[in-house]
Amino acid sequence: MNTKNSEKLYKKGCVHLVGAVNSPVRAFASVGGNPLFIDKAKGAYIKDVDGNKYIDLVLSYGPMILGHRNNKVEKSVSQALKKGTSFGASTNAEIKLAKIVCDAFPGMDKVRFVNSGTEAVLSAIRLARAHTGKDKIIKFSGCYHGHMDAMLVAAGSGLATLSLPGSKGVPSQAVENTLISEYNNLESVKAHFEKHDDIAAVILEPVTGNMGVVQPSDAFIKGLRALTKEKNALLICDEVMTGFRSQFGGAQELIGIEADITCLGKVIGGGFPVGAYGASDEIMNNVAPLGGMYQAGTLSGNPIAMAAGISTLTALKNKNPYKQFEKVAEQIEEMLLSSAKKHGVALKVNRFGSMINPFFTNKEVTNFADAQTSDTEKFAQFFWAMIKNGVFLPPSQFEAWFLSTEIKERELEKLAVAIEKSMEMVSSI
Ligand SMILES: *Cc1c(COP(=O)(O)O)cnc(C)c1O
Repeated sequence: MNTKNSEKLYKKGCVHLVGAVNSPVRAFASVGGNPLFIDKAKGAYIKDVDGNKYIDLVLSYGPMILGHRNNKVEKSVSQALKKGTSFGASTNAEIKLAKIVCDAFPGMDKVRFVNSGTEAVLSAIRLARAHTGKDKIIKFSGCYHGHMDAMLVAAGSGLATLSLPGSKGVPSQAVENTLISEYNNLESVKAHFEKHDDIAAVILEPVTGNMGVVQPSDAFIKGLRALTKEKNALLICDEVMTGFRSQFGGAQELIGIEADITCLGKVIGGGFPVGAYGASDEIMNNVAPLGGMYQAGTLSGNPIAMAAGISTLTALKNKNPYKQFEKVAEQIEEMLLSSAKKHGVALKVNRFGSMINPFFTNKEVTNFADAQTSDTEKFAQFFWAMIKNGVFLPPSQFEAWFLSTEIKERELEKLAVAIEKSMEMVSSI
């Protein structure tokens, strides 16, 4: 495989960019080698600067659920471009996207658009504190909620991949109100509530993607909902990854709970930088200009990004691809498990809707500690074998693979061949 141009750009990029990337997950830190540089993409495929073409299961870490350069999205964006790119004043597009989002989540009357998932979460946490008058937040180890100070503890994939326990530069005061519990362990949450009476909220990924795909048990998630109600704490579902991806109404719809505050991002921007947080009128009316909780953004609700969001969500609503995603994911699971078995590779597969994760371990993965039993070297070998066989995967054992609606019969056949060849390479090393 020729990667000369990527290598050249990597060297050049290292001069004025940090590690030649603008987000550490894009560095190939845990799989070795240099990151690939991308030239362009269309539908299910992405092409690097050396002309190598891959089936894309990264999809920009989730947003490109309709595949790249969807016709309808491209058209809506170019129409919006002709009217101007930013006004610092409200537009009808924001109202339209707000209606689509609020209609999808039963508990949500109002929404505020921001520019990233990180911003959505940091605002949601401020809102939970403003609403309850309490300070402490419970998060789960292995869940990632963006890079705000208070959430950068036990924070899943990016940090796990780089073997960082947290982040330098986070003052201890910034995390002293953050309590850590174990995913799928309700007792570990109850213990905090017994000790502290100033817990504002519990935040979680209702299905995780940032320690790999892990589903909550029914008892855990329903118990969490009941417990937070009983203790007058808010339940924040961080659906930045799962919103409009697991199901139109997010993971909440599939697992049958209703959050007090929902955080969104990734898919709602259709490939542009959009995040959002939403809740009932009662909670959202705390936000300025209606209430005393300040949160603002020069480019928030940007008209180009709103256009991409509206056309992406409208296409998803019309297509309703969620049953199909389930079928495709099931087929990929079957490919992975049968190849692993044939070649004597220890493998567990977790999946939820259009997110799927092979863990190179014998252990069922129900929390972050289980995920960490994975053989990350085997994953690295598998990752490069897949690249050589034309499949672009997230360069981390702890990151979900994402499906787009463009994965069809032809791509599934190619995936089956690539998986089989790659598993054979892993087993022979
Ligand atoms: C990606 C992600 C975030 C952060 O979103 P950014 O847009 O990268 O800031 C937060 N929470 C979850 C669950 C995510 O997957």
